[in-house]
Amino acid sequence: MATIAMKFGGTSVADIERIRHVATLVKREVERGNKVAVVVSAMAGETNKLVAWTNDAARGINNLAIPDQREYDVVVAAGEQITSGLLAITLNAMGVKARSWAGWQVPINTSAVHGSARIEGVPATEMKRAIEGGEVAVVAGFQGVAPGVRISTLGRGGSDTSAVAVAAGIGAARCDIYTDVDGVYTTDPRIVPKARRLEKIAYEEMLEMASLGAKVLQTRSVEIAMLHRVPTRVLSTFTPDVGGTLLCDEEDIVEKKPVTGIAYSRDEAKITLHKVPDKPGVSAAIFGPLADAGVNVDMIVQNVSEDGETTDLTFTCTRGELTRALAAIETHAKDIRYRSVTHTADVAKVSIIGIGMRAHPGVAQLMFRTLAEKGINIEVISTSEIKVSVLIAEEYVELAVRALHSAYELDAA
Ligand code: ASP
Ligand code: MG
Repeated sequence: MATIAMKFGGTSVADIERIRHVATLVKREVERGNKVAVVVSAMAGETNKLVAWTNDAARGINNLAIPDQREYDVVVAAGEQITSGLLAITLNAMGVKARSWAGWQVPINTSAVHGSARIEGVPATEMKRAIEGGEVAVVAGFQGVAPGVRISTLGRGGSDTSAVAVAAGIGAARCDIYTDVDGVYTTDPRIVPKARRLEKIAYEEMLEMASLGAKVLQTRSVEIAMLHRVPTRVLSTFTPDVGGTLLCDEEDIVEKKPVTGIAYSRDEAKITLHKVPDKPGVSAAIFGPLADAGVNVDMIVQNVSEDGETTDLTFTCTRGELTRALAAIETHAKDIRYRSVTHTADVAKVSIIGIGMRAHPGVAQLMFRTLAEKGINIEVISTSEIKVSVLIAEEYVELAVRALHSAYELDAA
């Protein structure tokens, strides 16, 4: 008998029939003697619809208007509120005592950054009491309450984060994330049919996988799981009894291959400033204004200067930030003093990830050789202790991922 958190994603609660199926999975845990908090997403497609409405409302008046982010949150948080009520109704009808909890009722306290707020605490005193009393708590994911008692949301995919934060907040023994895939794979199985499901993955690796493009879990949810050491499982709503992947401590993984997984992201853009002066203060002049414009610069390369006077500098950001980044650079053209600027969004980032890399030399070399053999040019490289990322032309992403998956012996037999 334990207190557990269960989370169901959008496809798992896409209609009433599926909500009924989810209710049977919850009921099963209750019958095993567990105390349960369930966190739900909006029904598949709902959040997209709500987001589109906020844009229509604002642009219907002024073509360039951006919706007020606080009211945006009120609208987009509604999807999860609906599912929480529907699941509570279903559970009660099945004879399982349950009630819904909106983010502000729990409360899930967040920062004031509407649209992508960070969870700051989940006191949950009353909800904990209700759970201990045998009532299933059905929590609306994705939403919280910001200072000033305003409804906030956690950024797209945020109900994963709600689930892990609720699990930590109520001291749950584990957090089970039910989704439409049966675990975390060595890479995207749509690109590599021979991708394998991982039994276990270290928190650190999952953090890299998520932030480098794997879509299974919101990055922030992995951070919270790692910080609070919440044993978190990813499993399928449709085949709950087979498979699954456990996020755990590195020490709990016996076989550490050099590379555990391969991630990719197409959401990349590259900007090059040509002939910037090669002298102190230039990077500060470039990256200061970018930070002020809210651009998250990812990879950076600066070439050695041939003439000792000027050099080229390349960096990447997300495609959504490209326009803002170019505007910030143009505005500060006088301070930066570049000769010209070029940019492209036809790039993608491919990364190899593994804690085993720390103990195996030559891991990056195999990546470079493998890409070279396929005739793929590497434009930018960045590394950390447990990952190597390369920026390449977008058209080669699938080829690169497949080749690397074989090279690191990750293909299923
Ligand atoms: N419904 C929200 C979204 O679609 C949150 C989530 O599903 O995790 O982004
Ligand atoms: Mg999701």
